[in-house]
Amino acid sequence: MLSWTKLSRSTFFLCLFQIDSGNAFFPNMSIIRKQQHVLVPSFKYGSSYIRNEPIRATSARRLSYRSSIDSCPISNVAIVGGGLAGLSTAYHLLELSGDNKDKFPSGIHITIFDKALVGEGGASSVAGGLMHPFSPRGKLIHFGLPALDQSNHLIQMASKNQLQCILRPHLYRIALKPNSDVQLQNTADKYPNLARWMAKEKIHSKFAIDSLGGLELGGGCKVIHVPSYLKGLWEECEIRATAQCDTIEWKLVHQSDKHQKQKKAEDPSLIAWNDIESMNHYLDQFDTVILAAGAGIVHDKLVSEEGDLPAQLVRGQAIEMMLSSADDSGMQHEAFLCGKYISPLPINSVDGLSQRYIIGATHEFKDTPLSEEEVVDELKRQTYELAPHLWDNGTTSRLTTGVRLQSRRGTFGRMPMIGRFTCADNGGIKHHNSWIFTGLSSRGLIYHGLFGRWLANAVLHDNEEELRERFNDFDWWKTTQRK
Ligand SMILES: Cc1cc2nc3c(=O)[nH]c(=O)nc-3n(C[C@H](O)[C@H](O)[C@H](O)COP(=O)(O)OP(=O)(O)OC[C@H]3O[C@@H](n4cnc5c(N)ncnc54)[C@H](O)[C@@H]3O)c2cc1C
Repeated sequence: MLSWTKLSRSTFFLCLFQIDSGNAFFPNMSIIRKQQHVLVPSFKYGSSYIRNEPIRATSARRLSYRSSIDSCPISNVAIVGGGLAGLSTAYHLLELSGDNKDKFPSGIHITIFDKALVGEGGASSVAGGLMHPFSPRGKLIHFGLPALDQSNHLIQMASKNQLQCILRPHLYRIALKPNSDVQLQNTADKYPNLARWMAKEKIHSKFAIDSLGGLELGGGCKVIHVPSYLKGLWEECEIRATAQCDTIEWKLVHQSDKHQKQKKAEDPSLIAWNDIESMNHYLDQFDTVILAAGAGIVHDKLVSEEGDLPAQLVRGQAIEMMLSSADDSGMQHEAFLCGKYISPLPINSVDGLSQRYIIGATHEFKDTPLSEEEVVDELKRQTYELAPHLWDNGTTSRLTTGVRLQSRRGTFGRMPMIGRFTCADNGGIKHHNSWIFTGLSSRGLIYHGLFGRWLANAVLHDNEEELRERFNDFDWWKTTQRK
């Protein structure tokens, strides 16, 4: 059987959409520290949250940035990986430099190197699409509210180009286990602008689900079709770059396995990205490199052993199911969360009628992936009560697999890793001006906007300390003991 390492060096990233086979090798990596504030947005519950609300005026105030950039230290930026992290950073580099055009007389030039097309690679391409700022116990995560605002800003931009990327303007968190109802009621009491408690009778009459009650999460919480969203965001980057006389380019890279060779034959513009040496060769031409390749950072050894990050790889498998229009009557086309999730997908483009859903996801820490039967068993056991109709009448279209790079939990929860990256002497990407944005864990949607903006701001100022002004402990991952 193929090892995880072999898969990653060859076909793994092409297989993210498929059931992966073979043994996995999870390099162990390890964590932590602190955080702060939060303001409540001026959202009113009611009919207004049925539409896609515009970014609130409060966001601009809350996220105010230094209005000018003093110097122009960078102009030619490479971003390795164009998932949620990479594209958010790219968008913000353009937005912030566009606001300071006089400092960038020859423009800013961004190249994204990715193994896949936009929206088709990494964990982002298979994410469930649920965006909200709460922990599993209903606590507000650190920076939850400004993060929600900033992600909504990006979603609003992307949806101008890909209207269908917003699947639902709300989602439901259902209490199935004792105590979870109490926790969720507390959330509703504390954050009425985001969460509304629904008694079990109401949940039952609306969704025919037997539960202890649940939350309706709105106020900016959403269900996103992440691949469409990324496409929309990429298009917005292109539009912005053109308008500002900047440039942005997506470079498809290939590794030296059979599939990739075939792809190279079809598209000669693909560039060889076979090993660290060839990557370093390409990246040498840039004055700044940002590593945002998610789990690829580990699989492809973009950081050396010594440069290991306080994080671990967690595989997530999910099932896509389809309900024909004839069987569809019992379903509500809503997204439900109870630890696991059931979430709508865009309607089947083939017949234009069948409803599609994604049910996920496993949290697999072991080397060997769960088999298809094990995935179905586990997900069915944990979500059957939420959607018996779907389980009884739906047909499975496919299993999807993705790998999250999960930060170690610290005092402030699982925080992303951003900052300047010091390259090790003995391997990995080597560039005198390297930065990193990764470790989004299961919170890619909520955190990618805010952290991407912070990082872009620091990169443009060529000053990592800019990050400390936003998040005093942004460098927790540098000081944490590796495991
Ligand atoms: C099954 C599953 C369900 C999830 N559901 C949710 C959810 O509902 N809500 C939520 O907020 N989060 C969810 N997540 C988490 C979310 O998907 C991640 O936090 C997020 O996608 C991470 O983004 P990223 O850009 O850091 O990495 P990725 O999305 O993995 O992107 C990395 C990019 O880099 C590219 N790449 C990799 N290696 C290389 C290389 N060597 N060279 C060039 N390019 C490379 C990849 O092709 C990819 O495009 C889920 C994750 C999984 C696996």
